[in-house]
Amino acid sequence: MTDVTVAIIGSGFGGIGMAARLNRAGITDVVLLERAADLGGTWRDNSYPGAACDVPSHLYCFSFAPNPDWTRSFSPQPEIWDYLRRVAAAEGVTGKIRFGEEVTAARWDPAARRWRIETTSSTLSARFLVTAAGPLSDPLIPAIPGLGAFAGAVFHSATWDHDRDLTGRNVAVIGTGASAIQFVPRIQPLVNQLTVFQRTPPWIIPRRDRQISRLEHWLFRHAPATQRIARAGIYLGRETYALGFVKNPDIMRKAEALARGHLRRQVGDPDLRARLTPSYRMGCKRILISSDYYPALTQPNVSVVTDGITEIREKSVVTSDGTAYDADTLIFGTGFHVTDFPVAQRIFGTGGVSLARRWSAKPAQTAFRGTTTAGFPNLFVLTGPNTGLGHTSQVFMIEAQIRYVVSALLHARRHGIERVEVRPAAQAAYDQMVQRKMRPTVWVTGGCRSWYLDADGRNITLWPDFTWSYARQTRRFDPANYDLARSARGVTDALAR
Ligand SMILES: Cc1cc2nc3c(=O)[nH]c(=O)nc-3n(C[C@H](O)[C@H](O)[C@H](O)COP(=O)(O)OP(=O)(O)OC[C@H]3O[C@@H](n4cnc5c(N)ncnc54)[C@H](O)[C@@H]3O)c2cc1C
Repeated sequence: MTDVTVAIIGSGFGGIGMAARLNRAGITDVVLLERAADLGGTWRDNSYPGAACDVPSHLYCFSFAPNPDWTRSFSPQPEIWDYLRRVAAAEGVTGKIRFGEEVTAARWDPAARRWRIETTSSTLSARFLVTAAGPLSDPLIPAIPGLGAFAGAVFHSATWDHDRDLTGRNVAVIGTGASAIQFVPRIQPLVNQLTVFQRTPPWIIPRRDRQISRLEHWLFRHAPATQRIARAGIYLGRETYALGFVKNPDIMRKAEALARGHLRRQVGDPDLRARLTPSYRMGCKRILISSDYYPALTQPNVSVVTDGITEIREKSVVTSDGTAYDADTLIFGTGFHVTDFPVAQRIFGTGGVSLARRWSAKPAQTAFRGTTTAGFPNLFVLTGPNTGLGHTSQVFMIEAQIRYVVSALLHARRHGIERVEVRPAAQAAYDQMVQRKMRPTVWVTGGCRSWYLDADGRNITLWPDFTWSYARQTRRFDPANYDLARSARGVTDALAR
């Protein structure tokens, strides 16, 4: 059995960033466990046509690894995947990843003060466990009656079947979220008939994408401060959205007017326009950006169906009004398991209780600073409860969490501490603060039901404030909020095997 100081689950932005920053801090006895055959997480899996980030690339990357070579303001998936590979190699992380090792269980051993981890092919023990298993890494396909009887190809946008040639096919797309609006315009010119099943229309604003010029590339390479300034400008611009999301949702009315104008300009047919017009406050669900989705929907081979799907048959999708829509390919753009947090079912803390069970007790799914949970010593959850965002780069939040974890481990090393557990009172007070901030937000008052909410309607996903306030709170480890146990073997041993 391997013994390591830190085991990390996942090798997306979270896992790679975590290992890179630990390396730089001198904590090098680290292993990353990745179930897939390659690194990259979201950007390895989501290879559907048109996949790209929707936060500008200068901000959607690590602050410590700027990329002067982004080709577009919103870079396509292959470029982001390639960026992650290069960062992992440059930071000495790639060699620490064990591919094809899915973590099936991690159990806290109180006597040894270590995590015992089982994967699909090995067992290991770690003093600290960081899970970076991703907020959107397990695709969700709704259980629609008859789905198993469908005779054609069925796949999710995150597991795109590139062997399926869509030319001349009758394709049904289920869902109209962030992924669907990217791939629909790409497949529409190929297919015979495209039927888009929409439950709730998204708010869509224009996508101001452009090629990054040669002059900009030159400047970013030779005067890196210019890229930092560009990044800061994007960051501040994005934070103004938070004003409308979390401080005063009425501000979103102005942005709604912009989005309505965008829809009016791109969709002439008043009936289709009505079906595409949202009835909830903008921001309540993720705001989408696209300049080619609406035009694709106006093409003669596309229908937008708003009646609910009741059944799937061998060669059709049937809606509540009894209409059967022919299909030989079903593509699900129905999102991911988010609020049920799949990895939490595999982590067992004090007394053998799973994190999923702990988080299903009321109040559900809370973590101190979105990262640590009482009953789960030495466990840090990246993109944990209430660290998601609706307006800016998730990588910003991930980096803030990483800083906090590194600071905690350095504190442990300095003081010979080998067990770190957040105090229940600190966790409860933190959760009350988060839910208090949540009350006036657009996600609570905006009149929609989104994947941000759990079964009880509690927003356990998003951070309800400006991101700088989260970064401030996680800048440094705060030992007063933790129960800490020192190593009996002395200071130097705390992070040793
Ligand atoms: C299509 C798409 C577009 C997006 N665009 C943006 C954007 O523009 N801006 C933005 O801010 N965010 C965006 N996101 C959110 C995105 O998920 C995050 O920004 C970020 O990539 C999350 O990184 P991560 O490392 O936390 O998770 P992931 O990238 O999901 O990586 C998690 C890794 O953990 C592995 N894993 C999971 N469970 C296990 C297990 N049990 N054992 C071993 N390995 C495991 C997975 O295989 C995966 O490699 C997008 C998400 C999607 C799906």
